[in-house]
Parts: sequence; structure tokens; C-alpha cells
Amino acid sequence: MDCVFCRILKGELPARFVYEDEGFVAFHDIRPKAPVHVLVVPREHVEKLSDYPDSEEGERKLGALFNRANRVARLLGLSGYKLQVHVGEKGGQEVYHVHVHVMGSPG
Ligand code: AMP
Repeated sequence: MDCVFCRILKGELPARFVYEDEGFVAFHDIRPKAPVHVLVVPREHVEKLSDYPDSEEGERKLGALFNRANRVARLLGLSGYKLQVHVGEKGGQEVYHVHVHVMGSPG
């Protein structure tokens, strides 16, 4: 498996973790585009957001992903922030393992 986020999840590559639970991790983006720029990543390898099925299961997984993004933003003390998801080549996606960018400034 040469997915960079799977390698981070397995501990094969370093990352600056800010949050971990049974289903998700969050770590600092290696090339931050905001004073705080963290990626929220499910442990399950799914290539892109649009791969989640339009079903109860997909709804649950999407809900959990955005729930964690909110939780991480709260933990980091962000009162306002931007959530960004790149979907597919035309959406500017570089890493093909679902993730949400959480970007903001402390306070
Ligand atoms: P995108 O797929 O367009 O949502 O962007 C992927 C993001 O992952 C970019 O902002 C990269 O800077 C970030 N990234 C790539 N490799 C790493 C890494 N090893 N550790 C942390 N962030 C990374």
C-alpha cells in the first residue's frame, strides 16, 4: 500500500498528530496554508469523498467525518474556521485517501 495517509496511520511515516480515536486521526498538514491547518483522516482507506455511497452507511460515514472536523476545530480553539474537501482530479485532490482540511487561526 503506497497511500501516504495509510503509511502515516501505520506509523511508517511521521506526522504531528493532534487527535486520534478508533475511527479517525488528525494531524498537521505538511504544507500549511493557514496558521492552523490540520487534516482529519478516517482510518478506513476510501479514495475520495464521492466514493461514499448514497445510503444510510454513506450518510453515517460522512456525518462522522464532519463531526470529527468540528471536534478537532473545537479542540484546537478555533472559533471560526474553513473546512475544505478536494474531490477527484478536477477537484484538485492530491492524496487519494479521504480527508477534510480544517483551516483557521487560533481564537
Ligand atoms: P488534497 O488531496 O488536495 O486535499 O491535499 C492533500 C494535502 O495533504 C496537501 O495539503 C498536502 O500538503 C498534505 N500532505 C501530503 N503529504 C503529507 C504528509 N506526509 N503529512 C502531512 N500532510 C501531507
